[in-house]
Amino acid sequence: MGEDAQSIGIDIGGTHLRAALMDGQGKLLQVERYRLTARDPAAMLEQIAVGRRALAKSGAPIDGLPMGVGLAGQINTQQGVVAVAPNLGWHDVPFGSMLHERFGQQVRLVNDLNAIAVGEAAYGTYRGCRELCCVFVGTGTGMGAVTGGAVVEGADGLATELGHTKVGSVTTGRLCGCGERGCLEAYTSGRHLPPLLQAKAAAGLACALMGGGRPLESITSADIDAAAQAKDPAAVALWADVSEMLAQAVGNVVTLFNPAVLVLGGGVLQTAKSLNAQLIARIPAYAARPAQRKLTISDSCLGDDAGIVGAARVALSLPR
Ligand SMILES: [Zn+2]
Repeated sequence: MGEDAQSIGIDIGGTHLRAALMDGQGKLLQVERYRLTARDPAAMLEQIAVGRRALAKSGAPIDGLPMGVGLAGQINTQQGVVAVAPNLGWHDVPFGSMLHERFGQQVRLVNDLNAIAVGEAAYGTYRGCRELCCVFVGTGTGMGAVTGGAVVEGADGLATELGHTKVGSVTTGRLCGCGERGCLEAYTSGRHLPPLLQAKAAAGLACALMGGGRPLESITSADIDAAAQAKDPAAVALWADVSEMLAQAVGNVVTLFNPAVLVLGGGVLQTAKSLNAQLIARIPAYAARPAQRKLTISDSCLGDDAGIVGAARVALSLPR
């Protein structure tokens, strides 16, 4: 991939949209960031167009460049359909064809965690690694996997949706943003942590973060982590539950994929340091011993840029 092989990466997050121009070496030449003003698909196209116009001001030949668009959700990449995107409230949106109609054929829609895995494998500290898994816990819980140097997509692009593997009852378990019950995400991701903490308090554990009229949704994973470190009983109990569930899931990922590198990231794991440490300490107990021999566990190397770098990298694999 030559240095001249520029591409565009778009990262649609829960609150912001970012557009970036990347060179063939994974270096971001320009990044534009906008607060999402609307979440419907048509408005999203407009916001992507605004980002592209801002990138064009640098003189880059935007119209001729391949573009990768990453977003959180279960995406049928074969048909370009966003099956479920809880953050955006989308169900069965043909966003791939909308992107093609608006911006041409040089556009590829990609799941954000698949993009992150591609970005970390191509340009992170372990660049060139052909066996790499990323597990991210943030607003949602997800993973992406690169095996044999290629991202694992499955028949429809829906593979490796770790957050929606079932760890609870599908009839009485917690309701996930995807509409199903019992998903790992509903027991571990950022948006579910405040109600889970509330349940600990309701079960009789003392909790300094509850009460006092504080809105539940204002409690962050960093707040819970600080409380857990201060031995707050409800926060300690919640972190024990969450680290145990994540360790089981991540241990199973190690057993199933036998990665050389396992990247742990996402807003919750980045800010909740004690939770992250508990998770890492518990993973060895849940992964098959032989699969751990060559395993390196790492923080995200590219941090917040991994998704946008990966989306831009995915675009480079399009026929030109
Ligand atoms: Zn789910």
